[in-house]
Amino acid sequence: MDHLSIYEDTIRRFAACEEIPAPFRTEEIARRMGVIAEQLLIDNGKFNLTAITDPEEIFYKHILDSVICADVIPAGEDVTLLDVGSGAGFPSLPIAACRPNVRVTAMDATAKKCMHMNDTAATAQISNFAAVSGRAEEFSRTKLYREQFDFVTARAVARLPILAELCLPFVKVGGCFIAMKGKTAPEELEYSIHGLQKLGGKVEDSRKYFVPGDENPRYLLTIRKISPTPAAYPRQYAQMAKKPL
Ligand code: SAH
Repeated sequence: MDHLSIYEDTIRRFAACEEIPAPFRTEEIARRMGVIAEQLLIDNGKFNLTAITDPEEIFYKHILDSVICADVIPAGEDVTLLDVGSGAGFPSLPIAACRPNVRVTAMDATAKKCMHMNDTAATAQISNFAAVSGRAEEFSRTKLYREQFDFVTARAVARLPILAELCLPFVKVGGCFIAMKGKTAPEELEYSIHGLQKLGGKVEDSRKYFVPGDENPRYLLTIRKISPTPAAYPRQYAQMAKKPL
């Protein structure tokens, strides 16, 4: 096989992959995905962003996985989305690439990861994206962020009871928290029901799916915000971890 750059490799994979929903299969979106993959490898050399460096694995585990999440976000004009603990930009960057009208904010405690995300968005010409650096449990106590988002996503950040306390305070009443979870999702959900209730959330959907190259199931858990989160939440991180809801 001839040697392709990661940029070209990703574009080809994107165009050929049957799991990518049809409306996303445009040249423009494919090019953005190419930049996301390329920039990930470039910046990974500077600041450890991901353990996954094989182009095929980057495609399935980071890009396809995030695009599957983008598919459950509506295309609407005034939709806002926050991705908590976005790291190198997953799922936030592919979601913004697929949904140009959704205003995407990515949040991460590590400033250099936010620099990587903002640089990538600029290079890929994803203009509906901004990364902010700081801790979720501090941002969600501020007026600018509390109950301001239609959707809040998170992948690989914390176990569900802690994750819900980090994420649900950001969701508008009527909006959704979407947790991207691995094979332990069903049990995590079981022992989170009580905590979700306390935070104003109600489980609405659990969608099971697979990505090629991983035999374990993944889940998109949709939790609807049905009432405001009491002012007592979120607590300090140490308390959340010590006494999960
Ligand atoms: N969502 C990405 C990154 C997962 S790693 C992916 O799936 O690839 C978890 C990330 O969450 C790290 O980058 C870490 O800095 C961030 N993080 C953990 N706790 C956080 C908190 N309380 N507030 C903001 N970011 C947090």
